[in-house]
Amino acid sequence: EAKYRSHEQFVTYTPELEQRHARRRELLDSIPRAIEDDEFFVAFQPKVDLADGYVYGFEALIRWRHQGRVISPADFLPLAEETRLIVDLDLLVLGDAVRQVASWNRVTGRDYAISVNLSALHFSNRDIVTAVADLLADLDFNPSLLTLEITETVMLDDWEGVQAILADLSALGVKISLDDFGTGYSSLAYLRRISADELKIDRSFVTEIEQSSEAQFVLDAIVDIATGLGMKIVVEGIETEEQARIVSGFGCDRGQGYLWGAPKPAGETEVAILEAVA
Ligand code: C2E
Ligand code: MG
Ligand code: MG
Ligand code: MG
Repeated sequence: EAKYRSHEQFVTYTPELEQRHARRRELLDSIPRAIEDDEFFVAFQPKVDLADGYVYGFEALIRWRHQGRVISPADFLPLAEETRLIVDLDLLVLGDAVRQVASWNRVTGRDYAISVNLSALHFSNRDIVTAVADLLADLDFNPSLLTLEITETVMLDDWEGVQAILADLSALGVKISLDDFGTGYSSLAYLRRISADELKIDRSFVTEIEQSSEAQFVLDAIVDIATGLGMKIVVEGIETEEQARIVSGFGCDRGQGYLWGAPKPAGETEVAILEAVA
């Protein structure tokens, strides 16, 4: 009889695994307190026009300063997602990020745009529509400068409900962006079913783009499809001039990546903005 795995493999629970589990638990338990204690903050990463490198806006990315170190989203967002705490965290980021950019725009007279990531969990009720509408009204912020980034996981929910909420958000004048395109289950059906303003092509494409003609071919085709659907295209994770040159050649409009800057806290971002407008 064929036996590919030993029984033990399934039941083994190593001390390390146990420790990791306990650590996750601990982290998770500390999120509500961390919200109260203001341990979460927003990092801003520039989004640029590929044609001339002009910084037209930023993506807001959450960070957690906890017990003297900064924890990255990969280490706590899955937990926050499991417990739905992500909903509160997203609203926190949304409020802080838009308030911050509204202030930069007032001071500089520019129209910087801001992108905020939303978990699929927001799409089970209309709270997000109210939250966005209230925020825009409170700050008198131009809705077209706000982009909400979603991922294909929204497709797993009640589709009609999701579509209605997306339509209501669009009616407010904010932009919808499909994040991480080209990973997971994101498919052509997804592109066809969601009317979004922007498509963000995942970093995994870019890492291969210099070596792989297949990656280039696929990227070129996706750009053509998305352009045909009237979407703007942002390519994520650009780290080299060569990558920027290649994706720009395929007709991509916009880029984001370490080539132009990593996500930085508001203070550092403000210094860069004030230098740029000086
Ligand atoms: P994302 O929305 O696709 O964000 C892009 C990620 O790529 C960010 O990681 C960013 O720091 C990283 N990145 C940008 N340029 C480069 C590059 O040139 N090279 C490399 N290697 N990486 C680059 P980060 O900040 O760790 O965030 C990871 C993910 O966590 C995000 O992916 C997003 O899905 C999620 N996330 C972050 N903040 C929030 C938030 O406030 N709410 C929600 N729901 N999700 C968030
Ligand atoms: Mg994003
Ligand atoms: Mg992404
Ligand atoms: Mg093309």
